[in-house]
Amino acid sequence: MAPLRFGLAYAVATKGVRHVAVVAHRGCRATGLSDRRTEVVAGLRRAGVDAIVASALFDDDAELYAIDDPVGAALSTVERVEHVFPRVRAAAFLFDLEHDGLLSLVER
Ligand SMILES: [Zn+2]
Repeated sequence: MAPLRFGLAYAVATKGVRHVAVVAHRGCRATGLSDRRTEVVAGLRRAGVDAIVASALFDDDAELYAIDDPVGAALSTVERVEHVFPRVRAAAFLFDLEHDGLLSLVER
């Protein structure tokens, strides 16, 4: 699972952020990411990345970003945000490109 980003910590610390929207979306390519190693490494190679480095980038980091279920991942992130930042409230939303970008609140 992806670590909570320093950007969020910075915003909480310096900008007074106390409410966070975690937005998931349908059709997320992070689902099944581990099955797409060949595609991703080949894409990195086309971008000029050395073969060993391309493989290492995928092998070292892809697992952090791979998810099985975008909604479940968003809800998990909400829990982590509120755990790490106890005075911050978070909510999960689902962005749906197939229905005019409908954004709906995901109930916990
Ligand atoms: Zn995605």
